[in-house]
Amino acid sequence: MEFFGEYDVIVVGAGISGVVASVAAQQAGARCLLVEGSGILGGLLSGGRLNRPNGIVQPGVHKELLVRARNYGGADDAIQRWPWGTYSGLFDPEVMQRVIIETLEESGVDILLYSQVTDAVMEGRTLKGIVFQTKSGPGVAYARCLIDASGDGDLAARAGASFMLGAAEETMQPMTNYFRILNVDLVALMGDCQANKHDLTNVYPDDGLPRENGEYALKFFANGFSERISKARSDGFQWIVPRDSIVLKAGMLPGEINLNATRFHGNALDPRDRTRAAIELRKQAYCIHDFLRRYVDGFQNSVLYDIAPTLGVRETRRVIGDYVLTKEDVRTEARFDDAIGLSNCPIDIHQPDGRKLIMESVGNGYGIPFRCLLPKGVENLLVAGRCISSDPVAFSSTRNTPACALTAEAAGVAAAQAAKANIRPRDLEVRDIQESLHKRGVVLGTDPQQRIPGS
Ligand SMILES: Cc1cc2nc3c(=O)[nH]c(=O)nc-3n(C[C@H](O)[C@H](O)[C@H](O)COP(=O)(O)OP(=O)(O)OC[C@H]3O[C@@H](n4cnc5c(N)ncnc54)[C@H](O)[C@@H]3O)c2cc1C
Repeated sequence: MEFFGEYDVIVVGAGISGVVASVAAQQAGARCLLVEGSGILGGLLSGGRLNRPNGIVQPGVHKELLVRARNYGGADDAIQRWPWGTYSGLFDPEVMQRVIIETLEESGVDILLYSQVTDAVMEGRTLKGIVFQTKSGPGVAYARCLIDASGDGDLAARAGASFMLGAAEETMQPMTNYFRILNVDLVALMGDCQANKHDLTNVYPDDGLPRENGEYALKFFANGFSERISKARSDGFQWIVPRDSIVLKAGMLPGEINLNATRFHGNALDPRDRTRAAIELRKQAYCIHDFLRRYVDGFQNSVLYDIAPTLGVRETRRVIGDYVLTKEDVRTEARFDDAIGLSNCPIDIHQPDGRKLIMESVGNGYGIPFRCLLPKGVENLLVAGRCISSDPVAFSSTRNTPACALTAEAAGVAAAQAAKANIRPRDLEVRDIQESLHKRGVVLGTDPQQRIPGS
């Protein structure tokens, strides 16, 4: 087995959570290794072709990425207000990957791609390192403190942490691959939406006639088209998508529409389900593009530009921590003494068994307790991002990227402090973590009066 070194901090997974956690740890003085199974930096944020943070991005590494992307013309950083919450504007996923590469390289984080973590090196209940598979065989690396930012909680599970899956076992939110269509005539599309408002659940902007592809077009969002899908079916069109509505959103590129429309129900931890999902979601994207060209104005000369290369997994393991964030917490703007970030991300549920999409505002937001990052029964490990300790409804809010980044910033700072003091993250003074985050400009969510600027 090849030895890859001994670090202060190892972060597993280079999605937004792993990127933020590793940069924050390195900035806080730790020597950090970031280990990623794929060849993509940014996870769902870039490889999943996201283009909007579902919530306000607080100061910290994620915000710095957005500002850098804006300087390249790849983000607008313009607050958008929707009935279910306030967002930090639009970004282009490839520009996001560019600025992630720049930021990681400038920070000095060691990066290892194409290295899938397969096991945990344990000493009793204490995590000491990771084993991963590379092209040339297994590798091993050690650290004083480790962060699981794999989205799926792979490292925590290998280390023996307990976890929950979905609302009940095997009923997780469906997988979806975003895809992008270019050369859409947005003026014609917006005209079509205005004329067919009765067939749309939401359409924005809804305040007048279509204009040119500028600020107005960037705010475009439409959800529905059920009647037209039904008409297509009765015309004999082969609609193979297991949902009868689609979401269209503008992107940063001229004439771009980004689609949240495909769906596969399955368990993303099961290799057979993953394989089927990867194939079926592509077939669905081809089908939806054919449908749009035939039935919706503006798509006649469009081209299917790309289908997200990273499988769009919404939900897998949620690691059980010292505290489980609950639906009551997120719905009642709960604040906590040990909060490490105030999140205003809406509850966003794609029902596992049905067709319903639930978007629910969380008002001024809720604090995320540091205890949600501490897996019960395992030492030297923090979790960040999608796999933190939460119930299914709270998860539907914390899974959004602004909340993932809050947990990652805190995990990075905490891991660096624990490594430096050579103590368990569980034994840290939360006040010290909060002080560092506060200095970075993070609104913590400790006090009922706190608000996220811009929300
Ligand atoms: C279809 C879809 C649409 C969404 N839309 C939005 C949206 O509009 N706005 C929003 O804010 N949020 C959205 N979300 C939610 C959000 O994208 C994710 O929850 C968030 O990006 C998760 O970030 P993460 O870093 O925790 O995980 P991920 O982005 O999943 O990153 C995890 C990384 O870890 C790597 N990894 C996994 N296992 C291992 C292992 N064993 N070894 C090594 N590496 C490993 C993966 O390859 C990946 O790169 C959406 C999610 C989906 C699926």
